[in-house]
Amino acid sequence: MAERPYIVGNWKMNGTRAMLSEVRAIDRSSQRLMKVEVALAPPYTLIHAVHREVEQIGVGAQDCHPGVDGANTGDISASMVADAGAKFVILGHSERRENHNESSELIRAKITAAVEAGMRVILCCGESEATRDAGDAEAFVTKQIRESLPDVLDNPTDQLTVAYEPIWAIGTGRTPTLDDIAAMHSSIHSTLVDLYGEDHAAQVRILYGGSVKPDNAKELLAVDGVGGALVGGASLAAESFLGIVLAA
Ligand code: PEP
Repeated sequence: MAERPYIVGNWKMNGTRAMLSEVRAIDRSSQRLMKVEVALAPPYTLIHAVHREVEQIGVGAQDCHPGVDGANTGDISASMVADAGAKFVILGHSERRENHNESSELIRAKITAAVEAGMRVILCCGESEATRDAGDAEAFVTKQIRESLPDVLDNPTDQLTVAYEPIWAIGTGRTPTLDDIAAMHSSIHSTLVDLYGEDHAAQVRILYGGSVKPDNAKELLAVDGVGGALVGGASLAAESFLGIVLAA
């Protein structure tokens, strides 16, 4: 595991102000666990409120628009989420790629917008079950990463985290074998070496995401090359999320 594991909760389309009590509990406990970096990505509507509640944990957004401003009804720019208190943004989640037809080209433009707004990026990647069964998972993920990442980042070490999230493991209770996770993380690392060089790639954390729970977190986080976890369902309650943080 990386020296300081990174555990990030993705609340997806869940959460109202009533859930700020969970945020306070997560933040208070995280203050005692300095060796783990903890962050939450609530929906847009809660970013500012969460930002005001927390002292220890990071706050991020689940998406942003690639443009700076203008006539885009219902969209939110990178500088707007940064202004609300977000320090990072999750981009390329499979639910955005599928439900909103987001291409890797669009995700690349969003990454550029996010770093220009001074935010860190968590780039998600991952294959479908059919792609894995066909033996094409690593090639598919390599292509996704190459197409989604800008050729140049000022400082990939600070600006980038990658989250490997096999689509078939998200919210299903299923996970890849530990060997398959290790192989994919090693392949992603090699792609980052090709793109940004050995020194930067060594510092970019690669998270695993997909049905991480308190009872499987320890073994998943111990896999070679796994630098933390991106957690969906189990991040919605302080008790289960902190169970994962404690396992890290
Ligand atoms: C996710 O969608 O980012 C995720 C990892 O979800 P879950 O933990 O619920 O599988």
